[in-house]
Amino acid sequence: MRRHRYQFDLANLLSLFRPLYPECVLCRRRRKPTEDGTCCFVCADKVPYIKRVVCAHCGRADFCHDCDRLLADHRNPPALAFHRSAARYDSFLKFVIAQYKYRGHERLRNLLKDILKHGFELLQNQLAVQEDRYTETFDMITFVPISGPRAHERGFNQAEQLAEELSEVTGLPVMSLLRREKHAPKQSQQTRIGRLKVSHQVFAFDEEVWAKMVSEQQENNQVARMLTLDRPLRIIIVDDVYTTGTTLEACAGVLKTRLGSHVYGLTLARA
Ligand SMILES: [Zn+2]
Ligand SMILES: [Zn+2]
Repeated sequence: MRRHRYQFDLANLLSLFRPLYPECVLCRRRRKPTEDGTCCFVCADKVPYIKRVVCAHCGRADFCHDCDRLLADHRNPPALAFHRSAARYDSFLKFVIAQYKYRGHERLRNLLKDILKHGFELLQNQLAVQEDRYTETFDMITFVPISGPRAHERGFNQAEQLAEELSEVTGLPVMSLLRREKHAPKQSQQTRIGRLKVSHQVFAFDEEVWAKMVSEQQENNQVARMLTLDRPLRIIIVDDVYTTGTTLEACAGVLKTRLGSHVYGLTLARA
């Protein structure tokens, strides 16, 4: 009995000499925070980054029969040039994204920025391989739009916020080039084939945003340069999680058809 009490007191006493770290937003423990104070080092180390890409098209760390099939069909090449996810969608990342999505944790933004940065590096590496030049880069960032009611429920579009964060990391401008058609049927009510067909009709090019951007090019050097490129525009489209790739492919289809641009997908995690 006495011994227990003694230990308890000692722990209390020692805590007086330990620096009082802020509580980690993820694990709630008082542990040494990362440099930007986002979360603790232990949590930051748990992100399952994809470091070795095997499928050059979708960025999986594994062999990919779906992409093999997709790329073998020369009559219908995919609209998405290629895609990279920064990390695997494991239980930890699921937790991080859920915290961010539903509780809008401002303090997680820096961690997400780090994750996006890794994804961008993977994307940049593949561009260098494809273009055979390390000086090539991307021109613009856009994001997968969400429908009005859902944005309203949640208060924000997480894909848009991620695009803004990627913009801060890369210095590339963000443009809201896509919108969702209002009367699109709910995905869950469709068969898979139906879903594939429908998803192409769900997204539309936002002509208003584009026209405004073109008309304001005199005031924005970055935009002016982009509009006079002697190669197709390179657009990165951002989303949070890559599941089947259908959404990104549908969005890329709209952008490619309207602008003749090359479109590259970037997501935080892949399921
Ligand atoms: Zn933690
Ligand atoms: Zn693949």
